[in-house]
Amino acid sequence: MRVPCAGHGEVRTAPLLQGLWESVRAGREEVLLSPYLPALYGFVTHVLLCAPFLALDALGSVCRRVRSWRITAGSGPPPPLRRWVGCFWRVLYRYLTTVLPATALFHTVRSPAVPELAPSCWQFFVEVFACLLLFDTLFFMWHVCMHRFPWLYRNIHQLHHRHHIPFALAAQDSNSGELLSLLLLALSSAWVLGCHPLSEAFFHLINSWLAVEAHCGYDLPLALHRLLPGLGGAPCHQAHHTLLSVNYAPYFTHWDLLFGTFRAPVKRSHPE
Ligand SMILES: [Zn+2]
Ligand SMILES: [Zn+2]
Repeated sequence: MRVPCAGHGEVRTAPLLQGLWESVRAGREEVLLSPYLPALYGFVTHVLLCAPFLALDALGSVCRRVRSWRITAGSGPPPPLRRWVGCFWRVLYRYLTTVLPATALFHTVRSPAVPELAPSCWQFFVEVFACLLLFDTLFFMWHVCMHRFPWLYRNIHQLHHRHHIPFALAAQDSNSGELLSLLLLALSSAWVLGCHPLSEAFFHLINSWLAVEAHCGYDLPLALHRLLPGLGGAPCHQAHHTLLSVNYAPYFTHWDLLFGTFRAPVKRSHPE
């Protein structure tokens, strides 16, 4: 679809994305500009994306087949419901007390706009992919620092590592400062790259999904790291939670390969 644009001739937009963007915008500009949107979106998408893994953990207590997909199949049953509930309240508390007010301030400072046009398909793809690459790089550096500097590890990152065998919801079970830093790094990545709000929303969604999948504790047959090259996935992140000094990057493997901190996960020979 070609749309006239003052001073710029014609702008090419994708009809599908334009339709989607118009349905998102319709009567919701105030919501889209709300300073509370980033934290609410981050929390709600995280919880919703974890829901299938809660069902899988519940199923795992009665189904051997499901348990056989667990990366640490020999180390006991999946986490019980009470661990999920405790984790949910901890994450909610940190969002309400730290992440929500701090990201609201950040959102106000960056003063976002709601454009009329959707991005083109190419722009959408490039922006989402660039955001993932930039966030992966920034988090890799921050994560290495949190492990290399004892003060940072003790006061910020250690809490996340109490999960020796993580589960989906534990992806955000971190100290308030770490949780806030993750969201600020994600928001800054999209801001620095000047992303369209639709690309940014999709980036945050993929970002949440990759974090949930990395912590889910399952090496599922259709997991993204099995379908797309260059992703570490849950087996690599489990190795990080076990060994602490390997696989620092959240999603891709190139930085760990480059810096010699990549550790391939051990192949499971005997599922339960
Ligand atoms: Zn983790
Ligand atoms: Zn770590």
